[in-house]
Parts: sequence; structure tokens; C-alpha cells
Amino acid sequence: MPNGTNQNTQSNKNTQNIQNAHYHPSTAQVHAGFDPGSNADSVTPVVYPNAAFWLEDVDHGHHVANGDIPGFLYSRVANPTVGFLERRVAALDGAAEAVAVASGMAAITYALLNAAEGGGRIIAPYDIYGGTFDSLRTLLPRFGVTTTFVDDINDTKRIEALIAGDSPDALDAEGRNAPVKAIFAETVSNPRTVITDVEALSAVAHRNGIPLIVDNTLPTPHLFRPIEHGADVVVYSATKALGGHGNAIGGIVTSGDSFDWANGRYPQFTEPEFILGEAAGRAPRSFVDAAGPLAYIRRLRLKYLRLTGAVLGPFEAYQQLLGLETLGERVSKETASAKTVADWLSRRDHVTAVHYTGLPYGPQRALADRLFPLGVGSVLSFELEGDDAADQTARAKELIDHVRLFSYLANIGDVRSLIVDPANITHREFTPAARAKVGITPGLIRLSIGLEDPRDLIADLDQAFDAAYLA
Ligand SMILES: *Cc1c(COP(=O)(O)O)cnc(C)c1O
Repeated sequence: MPNGTNQNTQSNKNTQNIQNAHYHPSTAQVHAGFDPGSNADSVTPVVYPNAAFWLEDVDHGHHVANGDIPGFLYSRVANPTVGFLERRVAALDGAAEAVAVASGMAAITYALLNAAEGGGRIIAPYDIYGGTFDSLRTLLPRFGVTTTFVDDINDTKRIEALIAGDSPDALDAEGRNAPVKAIFAETVSNPRTVITDVEALSAVAHRNGIPLIVDNTLPTPHLFRPIEHGADVVVYSATKALGGHGNAIGGIVTSGDSFDWANGRYPQFTEPEFILGEAAGRAPRSFVDAAGPLAYIRRLRLKYLRLTGAVLGPFEAYQQLLGLETLGERVSKETASAKTVADWLSRRDHVTAVHYTGLPYGPQRALADRLFPLGVGSVLSFELEGDDAADQTARAKELIDHVRLFSYLANIGDVRSLIVDPANITHREFTPAARAKVGITPGLIRLSIGLEDPRDLIADLDQAFDAAYLA
């Protein structure tokens, strides 16, 4: 057999394996979603920097534009390198499909608007990322999407009551009782690592014909695959542990294929969509007609990514693909070290509380064992002793100004260890009332543990504590 033919057979076999086989995660993180045989026999993912792609001839161009045959048209809609990342994350997440976007915030905005646009309500806890809180509280309402914040997202009775609308709290700011279109929560919250019971919450959501959308940025698919536990849509800031090197901003939305978007609550998926029907010279079609159970993720790409344009660049996609190749190794080592550091902090003078559900005690122990047997990730937080708020602020400043190994910056999930004071940097968006609910105090310090030796990290913190409490 000539060499070329042989190679071809090889690569076809490869493609089939990658698309059909359910590889274990550590295999998927270096192979899934990329076919060397269609990419000049390169085994590392190839960067396609094209803005647009050759359409060959008019017939071919029309078929590609109408989606009748696979192919690329323009990188605002889809790009091969970004596609490798999308397929790899979908495989790791146990998802049916993924769309990569320019940032975690773009992923969250698109995911929520795609479900709740046109007058809808979201139920979410206070305990969420500062940018998400600010968007839900002050920006999305201007687009007709309001949010009812709850103290405890695991209080399923209260959530059921809010959906039923039989609680006065269900009224939005204008006193209208907008229909609930989605429940949103972080699987593990930032910075206190509170766990959401995705199984219980998705059961409540599904009983009421509502999807559960979760932000799984902290655990990553290595520690938790939300769709397998009932979530319908998952968002990631790929900037964090997914990419893992603090060198590229990016976001991902993944989706399962079991939620019924044609249940009557979401007309945007069942009404005729011009670009799917008439524009292609066909009878009118909706996203549900065209994509069935993948209607949600296809619509997110074609309406939100294509028309508002927060695309991930192919170079950033490549950096994140490289980062993903060591996802499991990084996250498991960082999680083990986070546990070691949290345990040390819980015994250190001048620490009044450690917030890390990965420790073998605490109110969420049973839930952590059930949903997170491999741990909750590399982020943890703790509170500094102080006479009052001003004293705590001063101690936090001294501690942060004296660390040498930890980097003081507003990121998490890096291979380098990071430190921050959430009250002043990452959670500034929280109102005083919301801060009190979530426990963003002046003495709260957040750590993101990297790949350094935990003994060096502990020694660094120890000398910074000594400096902060010298006077
Ligand atoms: C950082 C972060 C985001 C926002 O992601 P960007 O990539 O910075 O836009 C959203 N959710 C969580 C939990 C985050 O940590």
C-alpha cells in the first residue's frame, strides 16, 4: 500500500476513534477534537489565523453558507483552531457541544441571555463572581432580564416557591412577576468554595421546565462534570484553571442535549428563524426544527456569537489547548497543595476562619464527598484576626505586602500561586448588603494555589504573617 493511502486510512481510523470513542479524560485532554490526518499530519493542534476561508466555487460556497456541508466561512462564526478547543472541552465536560468565546464574562452573558432574553427572570445566589453579580444586578435588567437573588441556592424548597411565584420575594424591582427562565449558580463558589448541590437543584429546575446553568470555572471538568449530574448548560472562564497559565483570556459554553427547549417557555427556539429557512431558499425553520436537542448551543453561536461578536482568537485558543493538555495533572496537584495550605492555615495563629470545602470537616462534608470525591480545586480563602474592620484592613495590607512567592493579582487557576484581598479587588462590585451575606470582609484573603512546593508556599505565608502581626 502506498504510503499516502496508508496514512489516510490511519487518519480516518483516528478521526472515527476520536469522535466515537469515550476516552478517559487524561487521554481526551491530549487527543480529543483534533485529527492529525486533516491537518498536514501535525499531531499538535494547528493555528489557523484566517479571517475567512476559500469557498472554492459558487456551488460549494452556497452549500457551506447554508450549512448543507461542513466547512468554514468566516472566523466570527467558526474557526478550525477554536473548533479543536470546543470539541476538546466538550469531550472533557461530557457535553454534546461547546462554543468558545472571548472571555468568561462573554460566556456568562451569552448563556444567560440565550435562555432569558425578551423578559425573563433568573434565580441565582449572592455567592457568585463579582462581574456576574454586577451584570445580573445592574446590566441585564436593562435588557429585560431580572434576577432574584437567594441567600442559599441549596434551599430547594424556597427555590420551588420562587418558581411557583407564591412568594412575595418573587416580584422583581418593578413589581412584575417575570417568568423564571433559568437557575444560575457556581458549582463551587469564589472565594468561599461553597458547593451547589447540582443534582437537587437540577431536579427542581426540570420539574418546572427550567434549565440549570452553572459556572464550573473553579473545579474544571477534571473535578466535576456538571452535565452528568443534571446541569443543562455549563460556562467556564477558560482564563482560569482550564487554560491554567494566566496567559490568555477566554470563555466556553457547553451544553447537554436533554433539555426540551420546545416546552413553551422559550419561543426564541421554536419561532421561524430567517437565516435557517427563507435565507437558504427553504420553508421557515426554527432552531428546534434545525438542531433538535442542540438548538440552545447552535442558537448561541448563530445569534449571540455571530451577531455580537465576542469571538475567541485562534492564538488564544491554541494557548488554551496547550494548557488543557496538562489539566488533570495541574488541577490534582494544585488541589492537593490547596488542602495542605488550608490545613496549615486552620492551625495558624491570627486566622479566625478558613473557607475551603475540601477540608475533612465543615457543614458541606457529605455533599463534598458525594459530588467532589477528588476535591474542590485550588482556590481557598481565610479571615485575618483584627480588633475591628480598620485593623483587619491594615493586617491584610501588611500580609499581602510581605509575601514574596505569591503574586498579588486578580486571577485564579494559574500554575503560579496568587493572593488577593477580595473586598478591594475582585469583589468590589458587591453592595455592602451582598458583602455581608457572602462574607466578603475587610480581613478576607483569597489564595489560588499553583504548582510550587507547598512547603515553600507555607514558609512564604508564615513569614508574611509574622510581619503583619509584629506590631
Ligand atoms: C474569572 C471568572 C469569571 C469571568 O471570566 P473572564 O474570563 O475573566 O471574563 C467568571 N466566573 C468565575 C467563577 C471566574 O472566576
